[in-house]
Order: sequence, then structure tokens, then C-alpha cells
Amino acid sequence: MFHIYCPYCEELREEEEFHPKGQAHIERPKDPEACSDEEWGDYLFFRDNPRGIHHELWVHAVGCRKFFNITRNTVTYDILETYKMGEQPRVTAESLASQQTQGNVQVASGGQQTVGASSAAAEAIKGEQA
Ligand SMILES: [Zn+2]
Repeated sequence: MFHIYCPYCEELREEEEFHPKGQAHIERPKDPEACSDEEWGDYLFFRDNPRGIHHELWVHAVGCRKFFNITRNTVTYDILETYKMGEQPRVTAESLASQQTQGNVQVASGGQQTVGASSAAAEAIKGEQA
């Protein structure tokens, strides 16, 4: 059992109150009559299945019965955020990638590099002693 934050009820509720409804942010073609069969079929049937960040439509079925969006990591199952319909996600695959890049830079210029350098120095000292 885990809990999901409903952005309308503004509280954590048990997961059993919710149902997933598939990929979020699927825009209906403005002029369906002008679509090719492939474009229309794409809209109706084909969905992304990414490894990592995915934006999903959920409904608080046994609660306020409102639809909202969840940003979920499909690898770890972590729910990173929930947000109301019409809002845009704050967490995206692109934003996470840029955070990780910045994080790696910080790590490289920070403590771990120092640790790595000191352990290499310690091994060099051990080598000299042997
Ligand atoms: Zn709710």
C-alpha cells in the first residue's frame, strides 16, 4: 500500500482510490477530417512507453473523481509529482537530465574527487612501502 497526492483534494490518499488512464498530454488533432489514417491511428492507439520519466493521466475514482496528471519514473516506480489538468509538469526527462549533468559536475569538483584522489594517494603510499 502506498499513497498518492491528489492535487484537488490536496492530501495523500490510498492508491486503491486511484486508477491510471494512460499517457497524459495527448492532444486531439485540431482538424480530424484533415488527418491521414496514420495520424488518426497514431492519436487513437499508439502511446509512448519510455524507460524513465513518463507523464500519466490518473483519476481519483473513489474520491473527488477528478482527473489529474502524475509524473512517474517507470524504472523505479517513484511518483515525482502530481499536477492538475491544464498544468505543465515541472519534472521532465529533459529537466532531470540537466539536473544530473549539473550534479555530476558538482560531484566531480566536490568531495568525491577529493576522496578518489586521497585513496589513490594512499595506494601510492602503500606501493612505496611494499
Ligand atoms: Zn481527489
